[in-house]
Amino acid sequence: MKGKVYIVGAGPGDVRLLTLRALTVLQQADVILHDDLVSEEILALAGPGQRLRNVGKRCGKAGTSQGEINSLLIRHATEGLNVVRLKGGDPLVFGRAGEEMDALRAGGIDFEVVPGVTAALAAGAAVKVSLTDRRWASQVIFVSGHSCAGHPRTDWRAVVSARTTIVIYMPGQNHGTLAAELREAGLSADTPAILVSRAATREERIYRTTVGDLPWAQRLSAPTVLLIGATLREAAESTPAPVHECVEQELSK
Ligand code: SAH
Repeated sequence: MKGKVYIVGAGPGDVRLLTLRALTVLQQADVILHDDLVSEEILALAGPGQRLRNVGKRCGKAGTSQGEINSLLIRHATEGLNVVRLKGGDPLVFGRAGEEMDALRAGGIDFEVVPGVTAALAAGAAVKVSLTDRRWASQVIFVSGHSCAGHPRTDWRAVVSARTTIVIYMPGQNHGTLAAELREAGLSADTPAILVSRAATREERIYRTTVGDLPWAQRLSAPTVLLIGATLREAAESTPAPVHECVEQELSK
């Protein structure tokens, strides 16, 4: 009988943010194929009889190729093993899980997805701000800042709009270029920006700035996400913002 593949989110790092479902499937797996971002604390949950393999890679560099990972998943499941494919945060957010699920479907392998706490939400919790605070934002955009070779560049004009919180994954260290691109796309210099490094880990760091001052932002250790938008003013200032009653009425209809 074929085994099953579990595509599991490990969350941002803190073991306590792992879901109960993730813990259960991790402890029952025969093989665990994990990414670089998965914390040691979480990997330590694997039992002595479980095969643990790091298949992490960064932007195409080194590690196991996507094709090899897809083949490994299919091979192990075909051998009758239960496989956990463990990814940082949520497995379906910037995690190449789409390609893995396509391969599993094509290979006739049964799979389940176990969601996890994605970095954007861990960062929002770290700075204690609502990314969708109705007074400032009516949408959140998760966008990748760092384009790998062979992938299209981010079109910032399509991202920047009113009442929007932008969460930039993989913002890179070239904050000068990023800030210039964001300004050019229409963001004002005084738009609040917050860098969150290693959210929900013991090394968590928060750096508050603005889009205008971003080029001079402190370099923080990876992984980092960059939060941008008016809602973040709340994190820097204590003055309560006014509530727009019309929104209230709409919501209570
Ligand atoms: N699937 C992951 C994202 C993978 S892409 C998720 O849902 O979170 C890798 C990027 O995620 C990193 O470059 C960084 O931008 C972000 N990231 C992941 N874990 C993070 C953490 N603990 N703190 C801050 N950013 C993190």
